[in-house]
Amino acid sequence: MKCNTSQIRDRLYKKALESICRYRIAAIGIDYRGTVISIANNQPRNLYKGGGIHAEQRVMHKSPRSLKKIIILRVGEGGEIRPIDPCSKCAEKAAELGVKIESVAA
Ligand SMILES: [Zn+2]
Repeated sequence: MKCNTSQIRDRLYKKALESICRYRIAAIGIDYRGTVISIANNQPRNLYKGGGIHAEQRVMHKSPRSLKKIIILRVGEGGEIRPIDPCSKCAEKAAELGVKIESVAA
């Protein structure tokens, strides 16, 4: 299934809202044809210790081979789209896989 940018944005937004983390983030994985192949939100690893699992990390784990691009989106407490950059760990992993990470502009 091909998706245009506004469809991707809507899907990311809905997925991010399902996150139970304080910073609600979703990521979509896209292959070389521009097809959406995976979607995930961030998850708390441990409710008491913090340090959750990042959405882009989950997307890379689901489809490491066909993945070409990841788009991430963060929803703020008031439901607004907030600026987001991948953390250095995810950025490093993406570079290793040859995957480009983009974020939806606030
Ligand atoms: Zn990360």
